[in-house]
Amino acid sequence: MMIPKARSGYDGITIYSPKVESWRIDLSDNTNQWGPPPAARRALDALSANEYARYPQPYSTDLRALLAEYAGVKPEMIVVGCGSDDIIDCTMRAFAEPGEVVCAMEPTFGMVPVFAKMNGLRSVGVPLSEDGSVDSARILAVRGAVTYICTPNNPTGCAIPFRTAAEIVEEAEGLVIVDCAYAEFGGESMTALASSGRAVVTRTMSKAFGLAGLRIGYGIASPQIVLAIEKARGPYKVTIAAEAAAMAALSEDLKWVRLRADEAIANRERFSSELRALGYSPLPSSANFVLVPVGDCDATMGKLRAAGIAVRGFHAVEGIGDAVRITIGPWEMMQECLDALGAAA
Ligand code: PMP
Repeated sequence: MMIPKARSGYDGITIYSPKVESWRIDLSDNTNQWGPPPAARRALDALSANEYARYPQPYSTDLRALLAEYAGVKPEMIVVGCGSDDIIDCTMRAFAEPGEVVCAMEPTFGMVPVFAKMNGLRSVGVPLSEDGSVDSARILAVRGAVTYICTPNNPTGCAIPFRTAAEIVEEAEGLVIVDCAYAEFGGESMTALASSGRAVVTRTMSKAFGLAGLRIGYGIASPQIVLAIEKARGPYKVTIAAEAAAMAALSEDLKWVRLRADEAIANRERFSSELRALGYSPLPSSANFVLVPVGDCDATMGKLRAAGIAVRGFHAVEGIGDAVRITIGPWEMMQECLDALGAAA
């Protein structure tokens, strides 16, 4: 009997398994260390069993309306998905034929080449310039069917100036994904690029909104692009529970979200300055994390692990070397992290 074989392109994809232990303090995944907004929790508690037995709206019409209001665009310019991962994945599928190229800045969000592979696409990474800025000329020269840029960028935390992003969107060969998962923590707003008809600006409720476990992401784009992404996505991707929590957060707790994001920004600046006092050189960040170059990432992670603290380690980042990425949370957590790090070796 023949054993069915998965697509050959999947051979190079490894199953994502970021952590196996549970940590006392988890500063590894840039989620909201203050937790979810209270209104979202109340909305989840209020859901009746009967509501769970029904399907949600196929394309989340009501949630789109609230996200549109939050983003300052029309509802037909919003597409929602199972995390912004889903939007990135579906956009690649919708705008690149198998075998075509996805071009991305590098280093950046590690799932981008994986989504490219999942969709039968080739990924080409373009390193940042020596000064840490995005090399738009080299990115444009790749002429990808899809071009991906990220601002503020994961894992560096650096923000791309609006002017540079606009130039890439205007001159790119194909569609541009402008990933703004960390937009609430800094950098210029990229929303205006959504009207170009050449870009999708992706955002998420996993970071500032504290709802990573519910998986809600969205894209902002022209109605034609939204429709194309929805065709690649299919119906019913946002659950009843996710929709209820997200809508409650957007209608009742925007102030809560803004205050926590502001606290993260203040703590980021204080944490960075205290790291510098210890002899570290964290990269300037516009996100809710900082990337800290270290001599040996495994040794630094070991020090932190001994104190029950998880961070994300990176080996030999191009132009940076070994580094750890540390999520910013309430100050007590950051102080524990500083205490565990001690003076730079
Ligand atoms: N983009 C970036 C830059 C990220 O860092 C992440 C999560 N780490 C995502 C997208 C995906 O987030 P989510 O699917 O939870 O919206």
